[in-house]
Amino acid sequence: MSRYLSNPIEYLKGVGPQKGDLLKKELSIFSYDDLLRYYPYRYIDRTKFYKVNEVDTDLQYIQIKGTLTGTQMVGQGRAMRLVSGIRDETGTMELVWFQGAQWVSKALKPGQEYVVFGKPTAFNGKYNIAHPEMELVTQMDPEKLTGYQPMYNTTEKVKQKGFDNKSLGKLVKTLMEGLGEQDIPEILQPSIVQQYQFMSRYDAMVNIHFPVDNKSLDRALARLKFEEFFTIQVKLLGLKNHRQTQRGGYVLEKIDNYFDTFYKKYLRFELTNAQKRVTKEIRRDVLTGKQMNRLVQGDVGSGKTIVALMTMLMAIDNGFQAAMMAPTEILAQQHFNTLTDYVGDLGPRVDLLTGSVKGKERKLILQDLKEGKIDILIGTHALIEDTVQFANIGFVVIDEQHRFGVAQRAALWEKNDRPPHILVMTATPIPRTLAMTLYGDLDISVIDELPPGRKPIQTLHYFESKRLALFGFMKQQIALGRQVYIVYPMIKENEKLDYQNLMEGYESITRAFPLPDYKVSVVHGQMKSADKDAEMQRFARGETHIMVATTVIEVGVNVPNASVMIIESAERFGLSQLHQLRGRVGRGAEQSYCILMTGNKLSTDARIRCNTMVETNDGFVISEVDLKLRGPGDLEGTQQSGLLDLKLADIGTDGNILQEARFAATQLLTDDPKLQKPENMPFRQYLASHYKHSQDWSVIS
Ligand code: ADP
Ligand code: MG
Repeated sequence: MSRYLSNPIEYLKGVGPQKGDLLKKELSIFSYDDLLRYYPYRYIDRTKFYKVNEVDTDLQYIQIKGTLTGTQMVGQGRAMRLVSGIRDETGTMELVWFQGAQWVSKALKPGQEYVVFGKPTAFNGKYNIAHPEMELVTQMDPEKLTGYQPMYNTTEKVKQKGFDNKSLGKLVKTLMEGLGEQDIPEILQPSIVQQYQFMSRYDAMVNIHFPVDNKSLDRALARLKFEEFFTIQVKLLGLKNHRQTQRGGYVLEKIDNYFDTFYKKYLRFELTNAQKRVTKEIRRDVLTGKQMNRLVQGDVGSGKTIVALMTMLMAIDNGFQAAMMAPTEILAQQHFNTLTDYVGDLGPRVDLLTGSVKGKERKLILQDLKEGKIDILIGTHALIEDTVQFANIGFVVIDEQHRFGVAQRAALWEKNDRPPHILVMTATPIPRTLAMTLYGDLDISVIDELPPGRKPIQTLHYFESKRLALFGFMKQQIALGRQVYIVYPMIKENEKLDYQNLMEGYESITRAFPLPDYKVSVVHGQMKSADKDAEMQRFARGETHIMVATTVIEVGVNVPNASVMIIESAERFGLSQLHQLRGRVGRGAEQSYCILMTGNKLSTDARIRCNTMVETNDGFVISEVDLKLRGPGDLEGTQQSGLLDLKLADIGTDGNILQEARFAATQLLTDDPKLQKPENMPFRQYLASHYKHSQDWSVIS
């Protein structure tokens, strides 16, 4: 960073120690450079003038040119205010000042021509602007009327101390006056600047604050957004390269025993093309001598488990042990059942270790594990504990990874001399663009195909008035031998009320579906884990017809005979959660249904969520919509990704820029992995200064 830009903010003309403190505390502006990167959040076109009769509260900031009418003090005491008006050929609009009325009234010159600038609001059926910026036309800065005015975020505190949007703009202007091109040198490689026809970094900085016109603003944005993405990508890809060259991985050469036999004799169905492709991708990884870190994304029901098993068999064929970690006991149990069923009498020994495996049984498992007698160990985070020691672990599968903390995942790396290969599986699809940033240091595989013969789930959106019809439909389905889920929201802040709703729902269901014809289960977060499990198992065995539950059943549970998922107060769920819940049905050969129950009044977002669910079953489409509605900050895992460092670029809408940046970053690192070429020096220096505070991401598996 140039010497000029590293100046502390209080040195800038118009700031000083007191205001400097304020800027530091309130806006995190410590240096000139911080102010330079305090980008406007939007711009106002100062070339456009509105007429009084065009004013509308839908408008944000507007400017009107006209003659100032007389001024008048109105009201008493605290309600006292100064009222005036601006008149053009179409009418007069009111202007109001609540503070500093005396002072303003002295400064204003009725009868003169003014440009009035502010945000209109409606009051008593009329429009007015409170505390407008006023400028005499005769004294206007001509420059101002030709450009865009930047708008900066401030806080109330900062505003009260005299730093409103306008004065922040002035500060930036002062900063710019002392700024030379040498302060903002080019950091991108000349070839990149050339290829994308980027404006210079200096010009971009000037135009992001004070754009001459729309086009220069767009060009400045394009360049700076690219820079943000590019920096993150080079960083992430650099970490990946580092990991792969520094940390060797086990070579899993042989597949002539378990893997081949399983594939030829035990596999009961033809793998989908997507499953084959992903298995091959993993196969390639484990032959390289580098540690694999691969994320497999696949929608619910896409068949990730079999891929996990087959890749674990590769490890076992080479004398290693494998482990599979699931986020809940129920899921671990289910994986254990599925895997033992898949392998049948093939040979490898599969065991289960969870919190509820205790005493003698646990001791035996731990001992056998250490002696290498167990080939595949399935479990919950119990697997991470220090007491769990493997003889020779070579491959770890983590299911539903977003449920695990970073530290938990990293702990698995320590279980052998070299870190085992890591396969992370998730049924919460994230958009490619996001995955590229979030997991830029992982390789990504996608199972984008469902096994054949599945009937797409039909999703319907019902309002409360259809409740009777709903009950009729449930009875019909139960008569056909199927089972039904009914899910209620459960949110921490609202726990008591939610619990009440759930229990009321449960009671009304037991009334509408009475014994002995109907049996109803209930599962919620306040039950003991063993009771929950027992109730889930009862439903899974088909002993109850209806499962009333909270979102505890969201993850992974497999009851193929359940064909109806009813989601109560669906407007209160996020999209990805709705999709996960829907994924609990549609696992058998029968037609399945998902019914979203909502109240009549829906917010726009809730309506979009419901419509999206009705329209598509594709988890990736849903995740794209989700990202647009919520922004990346709310998505799982964004905190640790550096994603939130983005100031201008938006992961939801700038996907194409991200792709370009990713591509360019890959090219750069292929050409010069350690950034040692002279033309890459500036960028390397920039990277070093930019990331000096960030944690080492390389240990995130
Ligand atoms: P998920 O990706 O949600 O973990 P699972 O691995 O549980 O999905 O698979 C869902 C169901 O599909 C299981 O019953 C599994 O046996 C079955 N399945 C997986 N792959 C295939 C395939 N290629 N053909 C037919 N059925 C398959
Ligand atoms: Mg699964």
